Amino acid sequence: MNADIVIVGAGLYGLTIAQQVVEHTKSRVLILDIRDHIGGNAYSYTDEETGAEIHKYGAHLFHTSNQKVWDYVNRFTSFTDYVHRVYATHDGEVYPLPINLGTINQFFHAHYTPAQAQSLIQEQAGELSGTHAHNLNDQGISLIGRPLYEAFIKNYTSKQWQTDPEDLPASIIRRLPVRFNYNNRYFNDTWEGLPTDGYTRWFERMIDNDRIEVKLGVDFFDLSQELNKSNLLGNVPIIYTGPVDRWFDYSLGDLSWRTVDFKERRYDEDDHFGCPVMNFSDADVPYTRAIEFKNFNPERYDKQNHERTVVWEEYSRFAHRGDEPYYPVNTKDDHRMYAQYRNLAEHEPQVVFGGRLGTYAYYDMHQVINSALNEYEHTISALLK
Ligand code: UDP
Repeated sequence: MNADIVIVGAGLYGLTIAQQVVEHTKSRVLILDIRDHIGGNAYSYTDEETGAEIHKYGAHLFHTSNQKVWDYVNRFTSFTDYVHRVYATHDGEVYPLPINLGTINQFFHAHYTPAQAQSLIQEQAGELSGTHAHNLNDQGISLIGRPLYEAFIKNYTSKQWQTDPEDLPASIIRRLPVRFNYNNRYFNDTWEGLPTDGYTRWFERMIDNDRIEVKLGVDFFDLSQELNKSNLLGNVPIIYTGPVDRWFDYSLGDLSWRTVDFKERRYDEDDHFGCPVMNFSDADVPYTRAIEFKNFNPERYDKQNHERTVVWEEYSRFAHRGDEPYYPVNTKDDHRMYAQYRNLAEHEPQVVFGGRLGTYAYYDMHQVINSALNEYEHTISALLK
């Protein structure tokens, strides 16, 4: 091996670090990934039959308000003018999300003005109105009142997390805006869009450099192959983006994660839902949402099959060892355990832990890129001097 730095994991964190290393130094980078593709959970591929770009690990929508991140990603890809909008099926009706004046008026069969809706919600939030909520339940009720919380959040959250909402952090639903106007953009960010030539082309361009080598299908913890933890640790700087508890052989316990299973359906129709993402708010539908991939890229109309469409239903469940970890559950116990792992991690020689798995964080893509750019500047660059 003639690399000056090894990156374990070819997700957005690892790719950003690799790109920064070759841009700012003369070092050689080796990226290892256990999977047979780069891009981590943002990887996508083209479905032959329909022409849809399938996001293999669930819908990924790029959005950011961070100028540095937006400028950075635009060096490798342009973005379509896609704007994310989500609808929800509840009790036999389809509503717009995130909760906005359209949702509120449809739900109450009313024609409230913004001010009237706001005072109604305040009243329905009752004793929790305007308080600082410490868990998802209180946060949900204080934001939108109990009736809307029970219709659109309670059952969806219980399917998604199977954890008492009182044990979940409020931050999970602070991700979703609530609006007292008819704006139903899902994200509040300044910029959003999908990579024009797909996610995978974007990622390939990030690491298109002779000094970056990628080896796929390599298990860093498998001692029967040469590029393993015990051979590399202490001999070369390592950027590790796998699960932090895995690194320490789960010695302090397993951090809890949710994973997602997909059930694919194909229909003899051009368009099954009329939108890219349909959430199912009620308990009687076992999946949380359905993704109709063709609808992410209407600009590819001429390349798509208009007789068939592909839909993935998304089922969330507790992740066991060996499952793909997607969402950190982040209960109080998890927080305590992660703090202890973090302590251990700080004492590992020349190892930087990063990304969603390495830092047990519910990151979006732009946040991962931002943290990689910062970490490169503040610590990783110094490891290569
Ligand atoms: N959520 C909900 N109902 C919905 C959509 C979201 O209750 O129809 C809650 C749920 O707890 C979810 C969280 O809001 O985990 C964040 O939703 P988001 O769509 O941001 O999640 P992601 O796309 O990351 O799965």
